[in-house]
Amino acid sequence: MKNINEIWGLYDQMRPQQIEAIQKKTPIAYLPWGAIEYHGNHNPTGLDSIKALNLCIDLAKEKGGLVFPVVHLAANLIKSYPGVDFPKHSIEFSEKLIRNICEEYLEQLVQQDFKIIVLLSGHAGEPHQNILKSVAKEFNKKYPDNYFWAFAEFDILPDDLLVANHSALGETSLQLYYAPTTVDLDSLPKDREICLELDAVSGKDPRLATKEFGEKIVKTYLKNASIKLEELIQIYI
Ligand SMILES: [Zn+2]
Repeated sequence: MKNINEIWGLYDQMRPQQIEAIQKKTPIAYLPWGAIEYHGNHNPTGLDSIKALNLCIDLAKEKGGLVFPVVHLAANLIKSYPGVDFPKHSIEFSEKLIRNICEEYLEQLVQQDFKIIVLLSGHAGEPHQNILKSVAKEFNKKYPDNYFWAFAEFDILPDDLLVANHSALGETSLQLYYAPTTVDLDSLPKDREICLELDAVSGKDPRLATKEFGEKIVKTYLKNASIKLEELIQIYI
């Protein structure tokens, strides 16, 4: 059995008593929201999910709470992005469905007595990401004693470190940090510029990605997210 003094855990891998021991001290739920989406030849289809899960776990290790399984459902994928042709390796859902799932999920997390819900969105498509944020905003009005914090990692990072990108320098560096064996930088062309139409990359050159840069992003994210979460803990718990 796991140590009862654990401050965090993976919700779906724990028994009720273990869950309640953590929840009693820290009623925070982390909901990593990812996607199954084509991320070029150099990254796996689950990049957004792997990123969201690991960023949630790292934050839970700092501040405590329970990490739920990743929601691998997303709208507005590169599959339907105008001007590009990447029909394969993406599983896309409607905006309406994403809103419904988000509402039903958050509602039940409230019923399960979580006070703070951290919804970390790994997929930067729009309006997908805005839908999650707007549901959180509605729930903040509906449940003033709870707080629903929906955000993407780049929302709390300076622009010179990370901005919204698709399989570019930022996402690829994070993937190299969290799951290096899933990345193949050699699959990127060496003799031309990287572009959205051919490489499914939006943002800075992923050929410059390193594990060290990924670690730098994670460390700054953790610092900023911990400050924000501590403020929320002081108010809502
Ligand atoms: Zn992505």
